[in-house]
Amino acid sequence: MRAEVISVGDEIVSGQIEDSNAAWLSQRLAGLGIPVAAYSAVRDVQTEIERTVKTAAARSDVLIVSGGLGPTHDDVTREAVAAAGGVELVLDPPSLEHIRSFFAQRKAAMPSSNQGQATVPRGSDVLRNATGTAAGFRTVIGGAQVFVLPGVPSEMKLMFENAAVPLLPRDQGTVATRTLKCFGMPEALIAERLRGQVELDGDPKVALLASCGVISVKFTTRADTRKAALERIGPPLAKARRLLGDVVFGEDEDTLEKVVARLLEQQGKRIAVAESCTGGLVCNWLTNVPGISRHLIEGLVTYSNESKARLLGVPEELFTTVGAVSEEVARLMAENVRWRAGADVGVGTTGVAGPSGGSPAKPVGTVHIAVSAAGGTVHQKCALRGARAQIKDRAAKHALNMVRLELLRANPG
Ligand code: ATP
Ligand code: MG
Repeated sequence: MRAEVISVGDEIVSGQIEDSNAAWLSQRLAGLGIPVAAYSAVRDVQTEIERTVKTAAARSDVLIVSGGLGPTHDDVTREAVAAAGGVELVLDPPSLEHIRSFFAQRKAAMPSSNQGQATVPRGSDVLRNATGTAAGFRTVIGGAQVFVLPGVPSEMKLMFENAAVPLLPRDQGTVATRTLKCFGMPEALIAERLRGQVELDGDPKVALLASCGVISVKFTTRADTRKAALERIGPPLAKARRLLGDVVFGEDEDTLEKVVARLLEQQGKRIAVAESCTGGLVCNWLTNVPGISRHLIEGLVTYSNESKARLLGVPEELFTTVGAVSEEVARLMAENVRWRAGADVGVGTTGVAGPSGGSPAKPVGTVHIAVSAAGGTVHQKCALRGARAQIKDRAAKHALNMVRLELLRANPG
């Protein structure tokens, strides 16, 4: 099965908006066991859409096109797809009725331009639009099933799930994917550890994917049933988990903050956070986890030296002797926020996020992180790379990962 995705729109090709439809569709199709082999973005120009659709249809089994179904003169996708298939557009009376009632419910007159939204290439199956006006459709061009969906992401997703998925051609069986989520070891080293121990190009197929510092090790296979597919993934997954040890922080949908929240819950502990260079990011992520209020006492953003002194009792002289970005200050932040909040775990982050403020001794990306708990305080100095936002992101992830490792140490198994 070979699939392609085509996004239509001037603003996508020109880079004014991000092509989230293509990303979403590719992931969804992969999940359905229909890998996307290529995708294209094309301007709102009828001849160009027609050519792109023709080319893609000639080499694919499934084509998903989104965008340009609206009522305005720049929406030409339906004309282009009809032309690519060599058929004319015909009126679909139920769609026209749907558009009429859409406007009637809103007590508005239907502009005549909306009538075009109820036309589809002759011979297509209409895909109903529950939320908007434009009808989508499925048509056959060459050997390919071509699905044409609206551009508005919420409408596109709804129509894809409800109307397109049931019509998609499918290979036999079902595809299952399991993922090990890793942090704190570079992708290349993870691959090195697995090489020779876990077959990477066999069945299940193993893929490594790095995204924002998190490395996902994905195991994918196809079998008659989901149960059989998961059973095939089980042994190599378990082996990889053993080989990677505590670099693996979770599986599938896990995030560092979800795992930290889970460990706090299991151990009945509470946390307090004092952040400087991460500016509240650690706390922001923790508060994305439902139920964290039972375990998060507070987060302070002590950005200035004055604030670190006033709210955390960091002695002023430290700022002139070792400086705010130092192991000493990170440790005191973690210990004092823990002590002042009466928490089981305290976290402190302080660093140089850049682009200015670096020095030979403390270049941009120097971050000190400390985690204080009953067993003592651990500290880590990170040398992070990238722009300001990336340094903040990685520093916050390192902080959460240190909390995770500390909680695991406190309560192994
Ligand atoms: P409408 O009836 O709103 O005109 P349409 O089907 O013609 O719908 P477009 O005009 O192509 O869709 O896009 C409408 C809006 O949907 C765009 O302005 C954009 O905000 C969003 N959109 C379209 N395509 C994409 C895409 N590939 N990724 C993300 N957003 C998109
Ligand atoms: Mg439009």
